[in-house]
Amino acid sequence: MELNASIKYLKGVGEKRAAMLSRLGICTLWDLLTFYPRIYEDWSNILSIKEAPLNENVCIRAIVGMRYREHKIRKGMTLYKTEITDGENIIDLTFFNNKYAAEKLEQGKEYLFFGKITGKGYYRQMTNPEFTEFEGDGKMRPIYPQTAGMNSRALEKLVRTAFEVCGDIPDPIPQNIRESYCLMGIESALHNIHFPESEDLLSEARRRLIFEELFLLELGLLRLKSKSRRSDAIPMQADYTEDFFSLLPFELTGAQMRAVKQSTDDMMKDIPMNRLLQGDVGSGKTAVSAALIYNCAKNGFQSALMAPTEVLAMQHYKTLAKMFENTDIKIELLTGSTPASEKKKIKSALKSGEIDLAVGTHALIQKDVEFNNLALAVTDEQHRFGVNQRGSLSSKGTNPHTLVMSATPIPRTLALIIYGDLDLSILDELPKGRQKVETYLVNSEIRERAYGYVKKHLCNGQQGYIVCALVAENDELELTAATELHKNLSEGFFKGFSVGLLHGKMKPAEKKTVMDSFASGETQLLGSTTGIEVGIDVPNAVIMVIENAERFGLSQLHQLRGRIGRGTEKSTCIMISDAHNEETEHRLKILASTTDGFKIADEDLKLRGPGDFFGSRQHGLPELKIADMMTDGEAIRETHAAAENLLKKNPALEGEEYRLLRNAVNRLFSGGISMN
Ligand code: ADP
Ligand code: MG
Repeated sequence: MELNASIKYLKGVGEKRAAMLSRLGICTLWDLLTFYPRIYEDWSNILSIKEAPLNENVCIRAIVGMRYREHKIRKGMTLYKTEITDGENIIDLTFFNNKYAAEKLEQGKEYLFFGKITGKGYYRQMTNPEFTEFEGDGKMRPIYPQTAGMNSRALEKLVRTAFEVCGDIPDPIPQNIRESYCLMGIESALHNIHFPESEDLLSEARRRLIFEELFLLELGLLRLKSKSRRSDAIPMQADYTEDFFSLLPFELTGAQMRAVKQSTDDMMKDIPMNRLLQGDVGSGKTAVSAALIYNCAKNGFQSALMAPTEVLAMQHYKTLAKMFENTDIKIELLTGSTPASEKKKIKSALKSGEIDLAVGTHALIQKDVEFNNLALAVTDEQHRFGVNQRGSLSSKGTNPHTLVMSATPIPRTLALIIYGDLDLSILDELPKGRQKVETYLVNSEIRERAYGYVKKHLCNGQQGYIVCALVAENDELELTAATELHKNLSEGFFKGFSVGLLHGKMKPAEKKTVMDSFASGETQLLGSTTGIEVGIDVPNAVIMVIENAERFGLSQLHQLRGRIGRGTEKSTCIMISDAHNEETEHRLKILASTTDGFKIADEDLKLRGPGDFFGSRQHGLPELKIADMMTDGEAIRETHAAAENLLKKNPALEGEEYRLLRNAVNRLFSGGISMN
């Protein structure tokens, strides 16, 4: 049977099972062979009855002492009992309502039994064990992720059948690479991952399959990178960034300068820049992008800046309009709520080239938006867009330079994979005068005092946030609860102060009004029942109370806290939580002890796994079947180097030797990931 043949032609699979399997992502024979077990049952560690611990899964080797007997204990419940012995001890064996299993056991024959031994005093029994005939020794048996109606044993059987009918499995990794990296062949690796001959062979198989998976990924990403390098971009003729710096009310940090320099160097070339600007909240990414936008405009080209939400787009628009107020740079805002007539005007001005910079949301990548000469595409908080959307903004120009900005600090190994196709600038330095946000974890008995502390700041002319995550079953309840919160704050403790409300059910325009009022200082205290958007920048806000802090993830809390401590004044974050489990306390204590985004991201990944990045698939990369971004850091580095090495020698993976590898890489990226 061909490896890419539909699974429904496999013996033992019909239409119904094929449908169930497809829910596990298994459509072809190959999918089945690469559907890896999660864990194994160890049937190789055979114990005697005497040695075997009670109430744990064990494997024993024993002879069936007699034919089974039936005991009807009540209607609908029959026990089938027999005895087994390992030559030293005898135990009872009981099957509930399973005559079929009992009948399979032959008196006098030797089997391996797998299950729990239970008993009291000297009495021992095994209930509903699994068993196979004893044939020399026991093996590890695979346990697969399951779907309704398809258990692990059934899958195991199908995998065995698949191996019987699949014939030779060609190895996509050529022999020379296998030899250099001491990798097992594909056939042996697949056999051993499903049916390990030994622990050692299992770990070799795992290593080989992880290598392959990451290697293909790296090859694909590196090739994307080099492909985008080959196209013709618009080179900037001169560097005007110095002029821009003089417009700023502050001096750029060393890290910001470095990032600007790296980017302007890139942009002087005729290969498009493809750069990720990664910097923790408050590190000043906007100013970096503004320098590039300025430079682009002075060179006579257009730029676009895309943000994931209207509120953020609006804020960027205002910030940039202010920075450019004494220049001749023309800037416009284009979002979903821009009135139609306005939109029309903006679009035509963009097309004619009258506008130098378009700031906006997804509205910027609508089909009918055209630019005259877009040379720089900036995307903010890029992790919230898919890779494909990132590309769409670029497609508005001919190979424009691209800068993506992200505040989501991710560990280096992850960055290598997710952004393997990008160059990296890191803002690892906060602007001068920033003070670490003091963070406290308290329980709700301290709430009054915390609120009192907030009030003190409001009286000083400063602003604050009270964030209160809601768990409401439906929209209506959420709305009620949000209104309630607002009422409690504005008519209760904070009576006489101007209190705003932000909640999850608001329309972008409503949110904007609330945020505008807060940014202008009119609103003193902002209550929020959702997170406050990443990127919101109100430096006068210096205090934040987070109610039910345990309901937020670590990174979320870090982002939230990043809304304060944005000016030179000391800022304070008070997390209130009455949750007293260890995990929560551990989490919240990490936050209280550090403001280092990288450290927090690391901890977050450790606690929650990389699901955030890899579960949501927002990054647009192919799914990983066996490699684990958290634990396989070493393999990531190894394969990255291996891929770079190979592409240096053979950029197009030419030659018969590499045909299978080339095909495999192309297949992996056939889902349409593309940078430009
Ligand atoms: P983020 O990287 O989170 O997007 P922003 O670009 O919003 O950060 O900048 C955060 C705040 O810091 C803004 O108020 C901005 O004006 C200010 N800022 C940026 N760079 C500097 C600097 N070099 N010195 C002082 N303040 C700065
Ligand atoms: Mg920002």
